[in-house]
Amino acid sequence: MTRTGPGWLDRQRMRMKRALGLDTILCDNCKWNWRSACHRPERQSAAWCPDYHKKGG
Ligand code: SF4
Repeated sequence: MTRTGPGWLDRQRMRMKRALGLDTILCDNCKWNWRSACHRPERQSAAWCPDYHKKGG
């Protein structure tokens, strides 16, 4: 069985960020956040993404 979702640690991080009221959307800070670069259906609202790369990093 292949795991495609967030791991335990990522889920804890997401929960912590939500609890603190922080922005949980990754796409805003992702360098692939372009229509031609990212074809994921969750683009613009991904809370977790295996392809996420921080912009400008
Ligand atoms: S790669 Fe993931 S985080 Fe980046 S824009 Fe696409 S869906 Fe959002």
